[in-house]
Amino acid sequence: MTEPRIIPRPDHPISRKDVDRDTVNVLYKLKDHGHEAYLVGGAVRDLLMGRRPKDFDVATDARPNELRRLFRNSRVVGRRFKLVHVFFGPKNVEVATLRSAVEPKDDPDDLYIDDDNQYGDLESDAFRRDFTINALFYDIRDFAVIDHVGGLEDLEARRVRTIGDPMVRFGEDPVRMLRAVKFAARFGFTVEDATDRAISARAPEILKASRFRVTEEVFRILSQANRETGLRLLQRYGLLQALFPEWLQTIGDEGLEQVCEYFRAVDQAAEEERYFPLEILCAGLFVPLLGQVDLERDQYNRACARLTEEIRSLGLRMDLPKRLINAVVELLRGQLYLLFFHHLHKRVRRFVESPWFDPTWHVHQLAFGRMPELEAVQAVWAGARAHLRRPVSGTVPAPDRRDVFSFRGKTGGGRHEGRQRGFGRDQDPPEDDAPWEEDPLLAGTTDSSDPAET
Ligand code: ATP
Ligand code: MG
Repeated sequence: MTEPRIIPRPDHPISRKDVDRDTVNVLYKLKDHGHEAYLVGGAVRDLLMGRRPKDFDVATDARPNELRRLFRNSRVVGRRFKLVHVFFGPKNVEVATLRSAVEPKDDPDDLYIDDDNQYGDLESDAFRRDFTINALFYDIRDFAVIDHVGGLEDLEARRVRTIGDPMVRFGEDPVRMLRAVKFAARFGFTVEDATDRAISARAPEILKASRFRVTEEVFRILSQANRETGLRLLQRYGLLQALFPEWLQTIGDEGLEQVCEYFRAVDQAAEEERYFPLEILCAGLFVPLLGQVDLERDQYNRACARLTEEIRSLGLRMDLPKRLINAVVELLRGQLYLLFFHHLHKRVRRFVESPWFDPTWHVHQLAFGRMPELEAVQAVWAGARAHLRRPVSGTVPAPDRRDVFSFRGKTGGGRHEGRQRGFGRDQDPPEDDAPWEEDPLLAGTTDSSDPAET
C-alpha cells in the first residue's frame, strides 16, 4: 500500500478551538491512555473547508469494552458494529473503533454488505469509507491531517469521488449514490467522472437499499443548502425515476420544473436564514397536483377529495410516513381554500385564525409567490392576516433536521430537539383514515358555491 499524505499542523487550518470542547477532551483522554485517537469523517472535511461541522466523530484503536472502562459516562450502541457514546449532559460524542470493511461477496449481483465489519487499522478504516473527502483523519498526537485516499486533492478540486471502484462501492451499498448527490449538492462539488458514470449505470439498484435509509437521505437532500441542485442531480442520474416513478409520471416534466422552482424559493429563503419544517418542504413535492384543478368549474369539496386521494396514494407509494402525508394533504387543501374562498369574508377571517393558516401561507408563497395574476387574491389573505397583529409563525429557527421517521410515531418527537419544531403539534391530523369531513378547513362548509356568505 502507498504511504499516506500527511499535512503537518502549520500547513492546514484545523485548530483545536474549532473542535467541540468535549470532543477534544475525549481525544486527549484516549491519547493520555496510550491510544490512537482521531477526529474523522465529515468533521475533518468541514473544518478543512472552513465550515462548522454538524457533529464530531472520533475513531480510536481502543475497543468498545476499553472505552466503556475509560469513560464512565458512556454507553455501547449499535448492533452491527458497536460504537460508544460518551455523554456530556444531553449531548454525546460518538467514538468508533477503527475497522475495516469485510471483503465484498463473490456474487457480482449482490455486493451488499450486511456482514459484521472487523476491527482494523487507520488505513483500512480509511478505505472502508465512502468518498475520499470523507476519509481524512486529524491526529490528536501531533495535530496532523492524514490522507490515505487522495481526499485532500479532491477537496481542493471540489470533487466527490468514491474510494476504490465506484461500480463496486455503489453495488456494496446503493445508498452511497444518494450520499454522493447529497455532498455534491451541499458543497457545489462536481462528481468525478467514473463516479458519475457509475451512478448513472447503477441508479435502478437504489431499490435494493433499505427504504428507511433512502427516504432519510432524500430528505437530507431536500433540507440542506442547494436543494434545487440536489433535485436536479437526482433527476439527471435517474434516481428519481427509480425511486418515485408514479410521482414523476403524474407530475410530468412541467411539474418537476415547478417542484424545482419551489425548492429554489426554499433555497433563497434559507440564504436569508428563514427555514421551513419538513412538512412544508414535503408539500413542495405535491404542488404540481394543484394544476389539475379548474377554479371555474370544480367544486371545492370535490377538488379536495380528489387531491387528498392522489396525495395519499402517491405518498404511500413513495414510502412517506402517514403523518407527514396527512400534513401535506392539509397544506395543499389549504392552497385550494386560498384560491376558492378569498372572496368570502367570513371564511377569510376564520381561516387566518386557524393554526394551519401560517404554514399554508408559506407554501403558497413558495409555490405561487411570484405570480402576478394572483396578486389580488394574495392581497386579501395578507391583509386579513396582517389584521391579527401577530407575527407569521410556521418557520423554524434552523434547518429542520428531524429524522423523517420521527413522523412515524404518535409523539412525532425526533432527534435534534424536533419536538419544539414544526407546527400544529396540537392539531396534528389523525394518523389514519382521517374523518376529513371534520377538517377544520371544511367546518361548516358543505358547498363551495354557498351564496349565503358572499
Ligand atoms: P454529514 O455532514 O452529513 O454528517 P458525514 O460525512 O459526517 O456528513 P455521516 O453520515 O455522518 O456523514 O457519516 C460519517 C462518516 O462515516 C462519513 O464521513 C463516512 O466516512 C462514513 N460513512 C457514512 N456512511 C457511509 C457509507 N454508506 N459507506 C461508507 N462509509 C460511510
Ligand atoms: Mg456526520
